[in-house]
Amino acid sequence: MDATETEIWQRIQREVGARPDGQPGIATAKAIAVKLGLSSEISLDQFVQHKWPRDTDAEMQAFYGPVGENVTQITPPYQLYYAGKPVKVITVHEKLVNPVIGALSDVLKAYGLEQIKKLKLDRFDGCLNVRKKRGGSTWSVHAYAAALDFCAENNALRMDHTEALFAKAEYEAWWRAWERQGAISLGRERDFDWMHIQFARLS
Ligand SMILES: [Zn+2]
Repeated sequence: MDATETEIWQRIQREVGARPDGQPGIATAKAIAVKLGLSSEISLDQFVQHKWPRDTDAEMQAFYGPVGENVTQITPPYQLYYAGKPVKVITVHEKLVNPVIGALSDVLKAYGLEQIKKLKLDRFDGCLNVRKKRGGSTWSVHAYAAALDFCAENNALRMDHTEALFAKAEYEAWWRAWERQGAISLGRERDFDWMHIQFARLS
């Protein structure tokens, strides 16, 4: 029986412990490198981040296209709530379907539903929002549906690590799940806006 290319990759991904989505990317390469004992020779963490454009209008538009376009809806792997109401789907950029589902799947695996609820990792505060940066003239990463906010009420824009909920130690696995996909958090990088995760490098 002939296997399709997707099936072949799924088989390999299962074998090396990567998520079997049949679409090999950097996470699959990393899992293979670990399996082969090459992970100390190849620094894939750096490479993961370099997948995403720098946060300038020029690089963002070259990579994602015009603001507000090329977006699609995904079903999150665990129930998210927006303003207290369950959400069925969230809108993300087409290029971010696998990274976002991958990160949230890792979160589910790492914490389980009970902890997710307790730590408020299910409080979603939006992705696509075609607007300019606060106080600026360039587009927000949200305008490309390439940034996601979580639990804004406990991670307000101006809170630093002493106040923001998601800066606490128990959120380490949450951040690692996103960082594995090359995403960047303003909290971990700049110590403000701990609600915010973006698929764009800081410019
Ligand atoms: Zn944001």
